[in-house]
Amino acid sequence: MTLLPLPAFDDNYIWMLHDGHQALVVDPGDEEPVLQALQAQGLQLRAILVTHHHADHVGGVEALRAATGAAVYGPAGETMPEPLQRMSDGDTLDLLGLHFTVIDVPGHTAGHIAWYCGPREAAAHSGDQPLLFCGDTLFSGGCGRLFEGTPAQMLASLDRLAALPGATRVCCAHEYTLGNLRFARAVEPDNAALQAYSRHCEALRARQQPTLPSTIAIERDINPFLRSRQPAVVRAMQARAAAADEVSVFATLREWKNQFK
Ligand code: ZN
Ligand code: FE
Repeated sequence: MTLLPLPAFDDNYIWMLHDGHQALVVDPGDEEPVLQALQAQGLQLRAILVTHHHADHVGGVEALRAATGAAVYGPAGETMPEPLQRMSDGDTLDLLGLHFTVIDVPGHTAGHIAWYCGPREAAAHSGDQPLLFCGDTLFSGGCGRLFEGTPAQMLASLDRLAALPGATRVCCAHEYTLGNLRFARAVEPDNAALQAYSRHCEALRARQQPTLPSTIAIERDINPFLRSRQPAVVRAMQARAAAADEVSVFATLREWKNQFK
């Protein structure tokens, strides 16, 4: 199975999985990059997976459905292009020999879902590392803005993603990594793993390469939004007037990022 980030707009990735014959895509905000990839590689589009209702994630759904007949799977709780197979927490889907499980991750939007693609059972592990398509919930070094959800919801959603196996490849919908890491260094100036990872990602971007997929293990080490209970992060947020409870610390972190230049 081949995993490809198709660049779209300024900084979106439309993730494609294909086996050389059949393909699926996640969050096609624009049909053009997908149609080009299908044609260039002689692929048939079987399915479209969507994480949330924003236009930069669904804008290409109708055109791709019309051009390919692909089935569309998306969040149960959001207004989406119809017809749609509506999916919610714990629902599973088998496509292209892969096994997907839906995780509800409210916060960026109220009905946001993530798609986790892991082995059907531990014994059947093929050697491929699991995949996570997390839309605008988890970014490398950051998280999505809280447009419709609360800090408590986003913290709980990120906790669920952080608990996935460390080797899980994290396929985010935007290339926001360098800006996120600059903020992360302001939060945790003494995090050595973060310094090293920043240099790695800067080198990738200097060669116009994606910094994604990341992994859950990397994000646990470098992403302040997965580290909001670390003593250094708690201290930094209390210096910015956060109360002692974890939701207040997380909310202060998210607020600071909103204003960070
Ligand atoms: Zn979004
Ligand atoms: Fe987006």
